[in-house]
This record gives sequence, structure tokens and C-alpha cells, in this order.
Amino acid sequence: MSKMRLRFAPSPTGALHIGGIRTALYDYLLAKKHGGTFILRIEDTDQKRYVEGAEEYIIDALKWCGLEPDEGPGIGGDYGPYRQSERREIYQKYIKVLLDGGHAYYAFDTAEDLDAMREKVKAEGKHTFQYDASTRMQMKNSLSLPENEVKVLLENGAPYTIRFKMPESQTVTINDLIREEVTFSTDDLDDKVLMKSDGLPTYHMANVVDDHLMEITHVVRGVEWLPSTGLHVLMYRAFGWEDTMPRFAHLPLIMKPSPSSYINKKTKEEFAEKFSGEFLRSHDSDFKMDEVKKIAQMVFNNPKDIQSQLKIGKKDDEKKQAVKGFLKDAMYGKLSKRDGDRLGFPVFPLSWEGKSEDDSFVGFKEMGFDPDAVNNFLVFLGWNPGTEQEIFSMDEMIDAFSLERVGKSGAAFDYVKARWYNQQYLMKKDNSTIANELDVLLSEKGMGAHDDFLQGVAGMMKERVHFMPEILEDGYYFFEPVKSYDDKTIQKRWNPERKDKMDALANLIKGIPSFDAGTIETAIKQFMEDNELGFGDVFPILRLAVSGTTQGPSVFDIMALLGQDEVGQRMDTAYQYFDEVKEKV
Ligand code: GLU
Repeated sequence: MSKMRLRFAPSPTGALHIGGIRTALYDYLLAKKHGGTFILRIEDTDQKRYVEGAEEYIIDALKWCGLEPDEGPGIGGDYGPYRQSERREIYQKYIKVLLDGGHAYYAFDTAEDLDAMREKVKAEGKHTFQYDASTRMQMKNSLSLPENEVKVLLENGAPYTIRFKMPESQTVTINDLIREEVTFSTDDLDDKVLMKSDGLPTYHMANVVDDHLMEITHVVRGVEWLPSTGLHVLMYRAFGWEDTMPRFAHLPLIMKPSPSSYINKKTKEEFAEKFSGEFLRSHDSDFKMDEVKKIAQMVFNNPKDIQSQLKIGKKDDEKKQAVKGFLKDAMYGKLSKRDGDRLGFPVFPLSWEGKSEDDSFVGFKEMGFDPDAVNNFLVFLGWNPGTEQEIFSMDEMIDAFSLERVGKSGAAFDYVKARWYNQQYLMKKDNSTIANELDVLLSEKGMGAHDDFLQGVAGMMKERVHFMPEILEDGYYFFEPVKSYDDKTIQKRWNPERKDKMDALANLIKGIPSFDAGTIETAIKQFMEDNELGFGDVFPILRLAVSGTTQGPSVFDIMALLGQDEVGQRMDTAYQYFDEVKEKV
């Protein structure tokens, strides 16, 4: 078999959705597994949808994920240019092949002509208008008009598109690597525009020509492109390229998280409020917040059974039907940016600052995700290894991945799982790596610490957080004085009757000759025994004094890392505060 060549072919129409990264990941894994080539092709022929900065975003996102292409814009390769806007002449040459072979034709219909035809068809009560074998002779094109007239129109520079001449009553079957046999009837397909009036190709034209010229062997893409594949196959045929046509693999959709993963007894009120607010923003003022919320509350009342609550009942009035319909669309179906906003998770790899707030968001990277964890999480959105293994290094993924184990049905996005992956990867990192990353985060805040100290913090905190920045949030007390103490614990545990003993304990700690965790522990425990103090009398107080909280790593480890002087000072400050709190009551 010839060397595998796979392309990731995004359009620079905005930030790249995480689903795009999954496609790129699958392409990358297959290319690496089979010693093939991973290509980035920028499909930027739709000028109207082009967004400044989107190409850079795509390249940066792939880089961050470690999915670096072997060929692509700015990288080079023997099949360039890799930006479709730089390949205009190529498409001009190949559209001629289709025109000359009678597989494509010029269409001179204006937007008004097409609208008029749509209206006419509607008035006749027929199904919607489709530009195809049954209608094309009634339209204004090089098949319906006399040759002379076509010549004159072309010579006079009349605007035209070029359409594919879809054959009548044929079936096209592909053997999709994920979906197996898929059959299309050409009667369901229309005469798609291949070249637009601006002289640029449409997606179909550029995509097929480039996949051929770039010798792509496997087209791996989202299932939303499956309906176009019938046309693509017919185009390969028309060009005479069917022998070397790529194999197709259409990936499952990435779906919204299951409502049961976020609606529960605790959160149902909050979400009833959120969804109602969203509903009201997108509907007219006929609806009142109270009534919308009541319907949402009713639906969420049994979080395990939301789907059946959303069924439209015979007695449901129009309003109820509208709210239920809205909730159904908002909670089920394809994952969207909206879901990320609503549920507070990223749906894009990197942050993006668009023109409006609606088009701006925080990415996985900026939320503190490790790219390896993101890849590991993403590979499971559609694929499974058939074993219990959940953690895969990139090499292991390359080894284990195959399209045979990619499913057909949608894969639900599960943010809890994404966080879990990040935690697993954080725990696996060695302390010196984490220390380096903490150093960067600290210097962004104008702070700093010694490497040994940072490694110590890393070792103590990495199992307690999901994200690197949380180490600095939850463990801020390693770098700054304690900001606040938990007053409830003070009330319960700071006993003035034991004041003398607690002072003695503070003095003992200040005088421990070798301030390592083991010695501190032995000394404190010995003191407790000698003074008949229990764990509950001492540890909550010590924890509060050094960190302000009763949660966190071992208090002996914290003390040892902070050092004797610092701990001594913190105990003095804390004791004074504890006395004040107690006096207030
Ligand atoms: N440009 C298309 C997209 O944005 C590519 C689809 C394909 O891979 O054929 O998804």
C-alpha cells in the first residue's frame, strides 16, 4: 500500500472547536501509526466567512496539542501551496476539465431568478426547489440556453457560477471505514455550485481537487460531511480519478454533556433560573420569568428523568410546548460554545478574543489544562481501546488507535472526565517540572520562590488539585501570610483554659533543633502525650495557624517547608487573632 497521507482541512472561519482538534488528533494518530504524513490544509476559499487571526489560531492550537503537521502553510512540502486561496489557477484548470467533459455547466441565474423559482415551486405546492435534472432546463444555464446566447453572455462578462451536472437516477455507494456501506441516490442530490461568481471554488471543488493532487489516501472528517460524499465520489468519477480516490471515515458527533451530569437536587434551582433567563432573552415578551421558571423547575424536578419530562403532553399549552422545545434543544444534541458558557467549561483549545463577548472565550489551555490530558480526553470522544486502560501517552495512543474502534453514534462531552484526566496528568508529573511551571505562574503575579521550595509545594499539592493554577490558589499560604482563618473552627477548638499548654507548644515548636517533618511530628506528639492533649485539641489549631484552613497536606510537611522562623511568626499572629475572636463572643 502506498504511504498513508492524511489531511486536516479546517476553514479559518473563527476559533477551532475542540471537535476539530479531535479530527486532527485522529488524523495525526493514524499518520504516525502507519509511518504516513499528517498535512494541514487551510480551506479559505469562502471570503465571506474568512476571519482574521483564525489561521494563526489553528496553527497555535495544533502546536499546543503537540499535533504538528509534516506539511502545511509555513512548513512546506512537495504538494503546496497548502492554503487554498493560493491555488486559484489550479481550480481554474480543473473546472475546465469538468466543463469539457460535460460534467459541469455555466449557470447565469441571478439570486432573484432563484428566489422566483423557489416561490413558483412553493405556489405549486410541490416539494422545495432543487436545482437538478428535473429543473435545470427551466433555468438560465449553458444547458438550457442556445449555444450562441451562452457565448455572448460569457463574452460580455455576465456573472455566472459553474454547477456540477448531477446525473439522474444513479446510486453511489461508499464503504466508509466507520459507517461501512453508505448509499446515496443522485436524485436526492442537487447540481451543486463548484465555482462561485467571484471565480473562487466552493468547498466541494477545492476539497476534491486538493485531496487528489495532494495524494490524500484517507479522508477523516466529521459526520456532517457525510451527505457531501456522494457528490465527491461522482466528482472523482467525472475527473477520472476514482482509482486513487481516498478512503472515507466519518467521525461521530461530539454531543452536549448529559443533563444528569450537571442537574441534580443541589443545582436544579440554579439551572432552572439560567435556562429560563436564556429562554426569555430569545423569545418575545409574552412570557414571564415566573411561568417559564415554573415549567423548567417541573422538568428538572426529577433530574434522572428529564428526557421524559420534556415530552410534549396532550394537555401542554403553547407556552409549555415552547419552553419544553427550547430546553430540549438547549440540553441535547451537538456540543456548542453555548454549552461551554452555560456550564462553565471550555469548548475550544485556546482562548479567543472575537469582536463581541459572544465570540470570546477561555480555552482549555488558559483554564490550566495539560495538552497531554486534553489529547487523552479527546481520543475517547468517539474511540475506545476495548480494554480498561484510560491513561494513554501519545506513543501508546499511536500504538492502540484504529478506526475500527471508532463508534458511529455521538460521544457525550464529559467535563468531569476532562478534569479527572488533567488531575491524573498533574499527579504523574515530576515535582521539578511542576516547580518550573509554578515559577512561571508566580512571576506573572510578580512573585517568586526557590526551586527547592517550589518542588516541595508541588509534591504536597499535586494530588489535591485538578489544575496547576489551583496549587497557587488553594496553597497560597505557601507564598503569602495567611489571609483569613476559619472562625467556626476557632470557636470550637480554641480553648482559653488550655492557653498555657498551647503557648508551651508554640515555644516547643520554635525550639525544635532540627526542623524536618519527622522531628516536628515526634516532638508534637510527645508533647501531646505528656500534656494529655488529644488530636482534636491540637491539630486543627496548628493547621489554622500555619495555613488558615483545616484542609490540605500534612501539617508537619507544611511546617517543615515554611521553616521554623516563619512558622513561629505565624503561630504568634494566629494565637493573637484566636484570642480576639474568642473574646468577641
Ligand atoms: N473545510 C472543511 C471543514 O471546515 C473540511 C471538511 C473535510 O475535511 O473535508 O471542516
